[in-house]
Amino acid sequence: MSIPQNLNNIKSQLPEHVTLVAVSKTKPVSDLMEAYNAGQRIFGENKIQEMVDKHEQMPNDVQWHMIGHVQRNKVKYMAEFVSLIHGVDSFKLLKEINKQAKKHDRVINCLLQIKIASEDSKFGMTTEEARDILTSEAFKELKNIKVVGLMGMATFTDDDTQLQKEFRLLKTVFDEFKIQNSEFKIISIGMSSDYKLAIDCGSTMVRIGSSIFGVRNYN
Ligand SMILES: *Cc1c(COP(=O)(O)O)cnc(C)c1O
Repeated sequence: MSIPQNLNNIKSQLPEHVTLVAVSKTKPVSDLMEAYNAGQRIFGENKIQEMVDKHEQMPNDVQWHMIGHVQRNKVKYMAEFVSLIHGVDSFKLLKEINKQAKKHDRVINCLLQIKIASEDSKFGMTTEEARDILTSEAFKELKNIKVVGLMGMATFTDDDTQLQKEFRLLKTVFDEFKIQNSEFKIISIGMSSDYKLAIDCGSTMVRIGSSIFGVRNYN
């Protein structure tokens, strides 16, 4: 099927409260433009340089989401235009995003990435680390970032019971944090293979790549 067909197919299955991030990493701008012309405006990339390059070539009303691991020294390249950073996994990174956002007189929306997978390789912080950040005085001083929710990467498995356990964990943590943080509204979980399950478990934002753009050769 074509990119517009894939996109429409997925969109027709998403409840209204769920936002679709079209994950376009490794794909050429011509593919992104096919999705754009079919109405898609939110694109997710996992490498800052690649996102910067595509941002320069794509129309201005695209909303760019950084979904990958963020190195602090590269935040400055995306600070001017990024619309949501999903993978914030330390206070140091939050501080750097705040600093770079300030230079552009912006407030950058961020999600804290919570480690929900049982695998060691995944980035993210523990619930305790996130709670400590959100309740700290230092956090309250960061006026140029806004934490609007949580992001999670589930274990790479097709065991639905395991996935459900991890997704539900994130939803539970979200519900706890939301009590003190009125700006919390996004739960970013679910990819091509598991987004329906993720939505059942509370996802409000799914990150879908291969089911829209086809399989990737790398990444
Ligand atoms: C690549 C990627 C996705 C999309 O994966 P698909 O299986 O192609 O849908 C989602 N989230 C993150 C963080 C990714 O790196």
